Amino acid sequence: MLLFTCKCPNCSSENIRNDYVYSTISNGYKKMLLCRDCSSSFSETRNTFLQCIRTPASKIWKVLKARTEGTSLNATCRIFDIAKNTLLAWERKFSYLYRALFIYSMAHTFIQSVIEGDEFYTKVQKNVPPEESSGWTIVLMDRASRFIWEMSCGKKDRSLFEKAIKTLAELVNQTEDITLLTDGERRYGKILFEICHELLQTGMRGRPRKVLKNGVTVRVKNKGSQAHKKGRKRPKYQTTCPQHPETTNHITDKETHANHVEANNSAMRRKCSAYRRKTNTYAKSETGLQRVLNVYWVVHNCYRRFNSPPIPSHLIPAKTTAPDQPPAI
Ligand SMILES: [Zn+2]
Repeated sequence: MLLFTCKCPNCSSENIRNDYVYSTISNGYKKMLLCRDCSSSFSETRNTFLQCIRTPASKIWKVLKARTEGTSLNATCRIFDIAKNTLLAWERKFSYLYRALFIYSMAHTFIQSVIEGDEFYTKVQKNVPPEESSGWTIVLMDRASRFIWEMSCGKKDRSLFEKAIKTLAELVNQTEDITLLTDGERRYGKILFEICHELLQTGMRGRPRKVLKNGVTVRVKNKGSQAHKKGRKRPKYQTTCPQHPETTNHITDKETHANHVEANNSAMRRKCSAYRRKTNTYAKSETGLQRVLNVYWVVHNCYRRFNSPPIPSHLIPAKTTAPDQPPAI
């Protein structure tokens, strides 16, 4: 699948040819293209991230990297000598890339996927009780690849959970075997069940039973300590909605956790200034917070992944099957 097919911005024809090349001040040479159908002339960067950008692209990368390594908006402007509106414009442009890259990522099909879900919170604009704040952020992360599927903020209410679960429902359609693991919030399971259920036709009399789609599993960890309570002990982990009878549950209790997404959330407190505690670098509006989250999404999922240096071979641990045993006497 081509992410950016070159089309005429005027008549969206793909029948285009190279016209001429010109040199820019800081971004090398740029191609001018000509549409064979409507003979309009346009630059190869038209409608892309680099349209109307004169700053060297390498500087923009450095600035956005600094932003996703914990520097606040104002501090970044001071360090790199840029205006606040310039940085905001770059961030907005970058956060638009999120949608295109999301659709691109979704176009793949997956055989098996374990998704961890968790939510965390920051202050937005002013101090209000957590339940009234719009700084709640839901993160859905793939366990094996650490790919973040969902990162949306808002008030911790039904609509926020619905938004996240709709992403998951799209993923369910692309994956044969999908498991959602969360620590606590039962709403994940409930809303997923409402969106992704099917009726089980068994041939028996009566109303068919509603179950999750074949291959979908939801497991949550029961919150709170049960040690001091009387009565029947609740299981530590449970499946919240009825599964399809053909779904095989291959997740053990030991594997039911959201540790990786929780680790990512604590990293976010370091890497995203809006989530830092006890400072005034918090977001001033919900849209601003979502913009920063989209930038983080793109950098985490696409930029860091392809630009991280390869791990030196001497640092890769050799596969050991068992710890060294003392020799038997
Ligand atoms: Zn055209």
